[in-house]
Amino acid sequence: MNFVEAEKVFPWVKEGKGNIVYEAIDRHVESGAGDTVALYYSDGEREESLTFAEIQSKSSQFARGLLQLGIQQGDRVFLFMPRSPDLYIALIGIIRMGAIAGPLFEAFMESAVRDRLQDSGARAIVTTPSLLTRIPQSDLPELAHVIVAGAKEELAAPLHAFEQVMKQPDDPFIQEVSGEDGLYLHYTSGSTGKPKGVLHAHAGLLHQYVSGAVVYDFRPGDKYWCTADPGWITGTSAGIFAPWLHGVSIVVRGGRFRSEDWYATIEKYGVTVWFSAPTAFRMLMAAGDDVPKQFDFSKLRHVLSAGEPLNPEVIRWGEQVLQRRIHDNWWMTETGSTICANRPDIPVRLGSMGKPLPGIHLAIVDSKGNELPPNTMGDLAILPPWPAMMRAIWGNEEKYQSYFRNGWYISGDSAYRDEDGYFWFQGRIDDVINTSGERIGPFEVESKLVEHPAVAEAGVIGIPDPMRGEIIKAFVTLRQGYSPSEELAVQIKQFVKEKLAAHAAPREIEFRSGLPKTRSGKIMRRVLKAWELGLPTGDLSTLEE
Ligand code: ATP
Ligand code: MG
Repeated sequence: MNFVEAEKVFPWVKEGKGNIVYEAIDRHVESGAGDTVALYYSDGEREESLTFAEIQSKSSQFARGLLQLGIQQGDRVFLFMPRSPDLYIALIGIIRMGAIAGPLFEAFMESAVRDRLQDSGARAIVTTPSLLTRIPQSDLPELAHVIVAGAKEELAAPLHAFEQVMKQPDDPFIQEVSGEDGLYLHYTSGSTGKPKGVLHAHAGLLHQYVSGAVVYDFRPGDKYWCTADPGWITGTSAGIFAPWLHGVSIVVRGGRFRSEDWYATIEKYGVTVWFSAPTAFRMLMAAGDDVPKQFDFSKLRHVLSAGEPLNPEVIRWGEQVLQRRIHDNWWMTETGSTICANRPDIPVRLGSMGKPLPGIHLAIVDSKGNELPPNTMGDLAILPPWPAMMRAIWGNEEKYQSYFRNGWYISGDSAYRDEDGYFWFQGRIDDVINTSGERIGPFEVESKLVEHPAVAEAGVIGIPDPMRGEIIKAFVTLRQGYSPSEELAVQIKQFVKEKLAAHAAPREIEFRSGLPKTRSGKIMRRVLKAWELGLPTGDLSTLEE
């Protein structure tokens, strides 16, 4: 499966009209798979499932309700609610009527919500009673409607009960759009600075379909669990559309992380394909290997990771505990879908992010935008366009243009390619450390650190040094049973020196009880650096508490 073949499956995408929701939902109902479960939901208390036919009718009701409120094609309608069946119905309903969905992670505080609603000129937002207080009452002249799911009291405009909005005929209704029309607007994770509003188009479905086939390895009858929240691109592109375009059932777990519940979810639903992130795998690792022994993972066929570099130690853990290799894949909010992956058809190389998808030209370029030979560290770049590529940074053409250099899309990540075409992530360009004339990616050092039995997680930064340019400092959290000591710090430094290289060993180690992370689970090295150097921390709207 490649993009050209995908175009044959969805010929309208290039010229003509259609809708990604038709391909992800209605098409399956029309071909007789309406009774297949599309979504299994549980949160420990509530358990529910929805078939493709049910999603078709409920999301049609919501789409009609939006129309009745005066929402028009191209309007931005946001979602700010915990994972629940309603979230999925609303998301599909928004896209079904041609509006642009703006999913927000439920943990955002008021100012983060305000920023995003203001930036995008949102017309409506769907939320729950408990999150309502975080929706600003002022400064949002364009926000005409707030739809509240599960409200106990009577609501007055601009508030509307979700259940009331849903009171519409349930026969299928779909707005046809062109492939280039807006699909969703995702704000980036904020790891490197202020989050950007990244606009995607319906035509991205070609890419999502191909990723589903060649990276996520979907097969008929699969039960797929992607742990990412729909507030992030992984949660929509890989979590919802890729599987539903293939008619594959998804598993959605509400509530907070608990290692037992996570393992139990895999067992209970017989999950066959599981997509999570390094931070989650590291949390499971830290919870110990006795917990997973109580569960049955025999149905699990394929395990994936994205969002952050995947430490080889985590892959080794996966082999032991899950009996599966974890397949790392690389992409960004801006790329819209997977770009580079340890695809199931090639051997996994530990610590590498694999090879590009067929049809994607990925390269390493220098500061002028010239391609570099193998084994040279440089900027990871993609030759545009590709189907799921962002169509705009919302309201900021200048920012959009700043991604391009000499015809390349520049990712902002630093990497190299080996002779066999595998790509190796080194770090964010801004995080690469220059010490005594050597360029060192923080990822390699962090991966070595977490191989030490005492280390749970590590964040590595460079700090200015008059002699060496920069020296390496590591912030480390410890596994259960270990406590900070000068002796342990010396031991850990020695460990990296012996196992990686003397020049890559941290000169300083600071033990911490936690690392600053984005709400999508990424270590925020810029925050470590700002704290260390006493500099302003910048936008912290996505910082986890
Ligand atoms: P912001 O752009 O706001 O600073 P962000 O870059 O973290 O935040 P995302 O679009 O969510 O926002 O994340 C994309 C980035 O995540 C990539 O540029 C890369 O640095 C990192 N990433 C994603 N997948 C991988 C992976 N498999 N290996 C290494 N890094 C990855
Ligand atoms: Mg980014």
